[in-house]
Amino acid sequence: MRDKYKIGTSTPLSANGEHNRTIGILSLGCPRNLVDSENILGRLSLKGYSFVDIDKADIALVNTCAFIEEAKTESIAAILDLIDLKRKGKIKKIVVYGCLTQRYKDKLQKELPEVDAFVGKISLNHSLKAWRLTPKHYAYVKICEGCINNCSYCIIPKIKGKFASLDIDSILTKIKRFDKNKVSEVNIIGQDITGYGLDLYASARLPELLKNIIKKTKNIGWIRLLYLYPSRINDKLLELIKDEPRICKYIDLPLQHINDRILRLMRRNTTKKDILRLIDKIRKKIPNAVIRTSLIVGFPSETDKEFRELLDFIEEVRFERLGAFIYSREEGTMAYSLKGQIPAQMKRERFNTLMLQQQRISEGVNKKFLKAAIDVLIDEPSSCAQGLGEKEEGSYLGRSQYDAPEVDGLVYVDSKKTLKPGDFVRVEITDTLEYDLVGKV
Ligand code: SF4
Repeated sequence: MRDKYKIGTSTPLSANGEHNRTIGILSLGCPRNLVDSENILGRLSLKGYSFVDIDKADIALVNTCAFIEEAKTESIAAILDLIDLKRKGKIKKIVVYGCLTQRYKDKLQKELPEVDAFVGKISLNHSLKAWRLTPKHYAYVKICEGCINNCSYCIIPKIKGKFASLDIDSILTKIKRFDKNKVSEVNIIGQDITGYGLDLYASARLPELLKNIIKKTKNIGWIRLLYLYPSRINDKLLELIKDEPRICKYIDLPLQHINDRILRLMRRNTTKKDILRLIDKIRKKIPNAVIRTSLIVGFPSETDKEFRELLDFIEEVRFERLGAFIYSREEGTMAYSLKGQIPAQMKRERFNTLMLQQQRISEGVNKKFLKAAIDVLIDEPSSCAQGLGEKEEGSYLGRSQYDAPEVDGLVYVDSKKTLKPGDFVRVEITDTLEYDLVGKV
């Protein structure tokens, strides 16, 4: 059974004892989906449902992803696993949520009659009692749904519909609750958070929202911004990131490519010149910031020369954090009908070439941290740190402000003092790896 974010208790905990029907959930895909899953559980707990392991539940929920082929395959496989459990009488009902339903409801209903319900879009309004699926010390807050952009390869605008920002007060209510519960790190997410407010307030309000969050909270140590759209990053936002110690010096900047012809075909509303100017500005304004980006290789008609240009670009910029995707031809997107679709083998080769180059760059970037002292957020005790530190010292896994949960590197921490998830500690870096760091408190 896939173990991506699911509830893990064996005894049913009844919220108000009305009935003891139990729910189990599997949340696939991105952190935005995770927030939806937390809201679903929040609402269900108010209705008296209790939560157990998904393979022991009366009602099994799966929140699916349909962004690219790989994600669709994973979602379908998860549903088939649940159908298998239902046939064995282990679970009674299956409810499929999320993007796969949003995209293929009619087809799924025909092909998977064992599924009891397909539920599409989940509203943005935060449940008053969202049920957390992340570890208690960090949380995701989704501030907007849908996307204001229309990249030619992306199906999300069609799945998620019109861009919608959540009002500032509702967001602050949720964040103040996290602050009261001493959550150490809050990750602000959306498809493109730089567009926050453009619909609701007719102007971009991310800096104003962040100032409110900073003013109205005191326990949250780190505020991390995920999914910043390059052409909407302005000086006001960069100044705030630079000046506010609690905002992570972590610039998550999905760029997708650097060649102008490809950027135009991708409908990214930006150019190579703009991107280089923006990166230069970030490096100058916030010298200790790390830049994370994501790139697509094998976009239709991408030539060897254009791919070379992409490799030269990452060599020049030396991104501290980088994720790459192999272009996935998605029906319903503009790029689906573009000429010059690249053969799968060549896409794979380009992906491997790029990631190997980035591995070398990341190793070099990490070396800069040797002997440095950095703040680390402890995530959990580590059982695999043996050999990286003396056994008698407690070993922990943590992250620096430069590492987002689930996607970036780790810091292996040795400490004589007992630490717990959510603790911030000052760590001296004693060794560096390709993506991770090693250190002692
Ligand atoms: S910015 Fe582009 S790639 Fe990202 S969600 Fe929006 S349309 Fe999709």
